[in-house]
Amino acid sequence: IYILAIESSCDDTSAAILCNDKVLSNVVATQKIHEEYGGVVPELASRAHQQNIVPVVHRALTRANIDKKQLSAIAFTRGPGLMGSLLVGTSFSKSLALGLNIPLIEVNHMQAHILAHFINEENAEIPQFPFLAMTISGGHTQIVLVKDYFNMEILGETLDDAVGEAFDKSAKLLGLPYPGGPLVDKYAQLGDPRKFKFPKPKVDGLNFSFSGLKTSILYFIQKEVKNNPNFITENLNDICASIQFTIVEILIGKLKKAAKQTGIKTIAIGGGVSANSGIRRALKSSEKDYGWNTFIPKFEYCTDNAAMIGIVGYLKYKDGVFAEPSILAKARYSI
Ligand code: ATP
Ligand code: FE
Repeated sequence: IYILAIESSCDDTSAAILCNDKVLSNVVATQKIHEEYGGVVPELASRAHQQNIVPVVHRALTRANIDKKQLSAIAFTRGPGLMGSLLVGTSFSKSLALGLNIPLIEVNHMQAHILAHFINEENAEIPQFPFLAMTISGGHTQIVLVKDYFNMEILGETLDDAVGEAFDKSAKLLGLPYPGGPLVDKYAQLGDPRKFKFPKPKVDGLNFSFSGLKTSILYFIQKEVKNNPNFITENLNDICASIQFTIVEILIGKLKKAAKQTGIKTIAIGGGVSANSGIRRALKSSEKDYGWNTFIPKFEYCTDNAAMIGIVGYLKYKDGVFAEPSILAKARYSI
């Protein structure tokens, strides 16, 4: 079975070809245009998707050495995401499936961030059900009980900002360009994580909150810069390391709570922030500390990519779960 998968929910245009559960190609075109605006501009994102989608799909087919006539189905991200962005991938997929006379498969982007763990990679283990998945991305922060491929229950989620947003907004306060998450990570690796203390939010249960952290970082920076205008440049590594340390402690703390509450020790992470070196390291050392069996996606399957859409497409294809040709994109779409 050959699946063409298309992802266009935010600011990355991506296409992948899978042969069953193996990835043959995974092409991602990241949109640079948003950098100068300090965040994603929805109108510009959909226009860039329109420009990118044909060449990206073409490149995915070429790299996989597959002709479009060999395709068994097309899987696409239906939501959640920016409506204008989703529309580009959705209408492209619908027309191509119609033209090739092959089935269409709709995919929930957040389920895909979790099911990316089922991509068949050499020497990679696959999590056994039931497991806990923490999705940490630009728009979501959730702890999900995964009972089966398509039987998931949200146990907790953020009440305000997503963790990726917390990284990006902190970076912005430090004068770093968008998206700042990867840069905070880069500088954090050179700094002292215990140099500055930031308060951790007090949120009951398995929910999260990150807006207070952002405010306390803002006040801290304003105060220090008043005393020393060069405070940020002189302490950038230590500030980033301290912010990252605080965020990782919050995330691991909630995972510990969820593991205790459910008695489940198989723990997976997904979404863009799972690329973060701090959370990857913390999760690995929790294997010894708490006896967890942890699953961290390969770097390229953390941030938005079509390969994760393709694996969901393959799983649904096997079950014969197809979408109607009249299907519509869905900006708000829970797992
Ligand atoms: P969602 O998946 O919730 O719809 P999204 O698709 O925009 O949102 P992803 O592409 O999954 O989000 O993740 C992007 C986020 O991940 C951004 O906020 C980015 O800063 C963050 N991110 C990526 N790499 C790192 C890193 N190494 N450290 C911290 N944050 C990172
Ligand atoms: Fe995402």
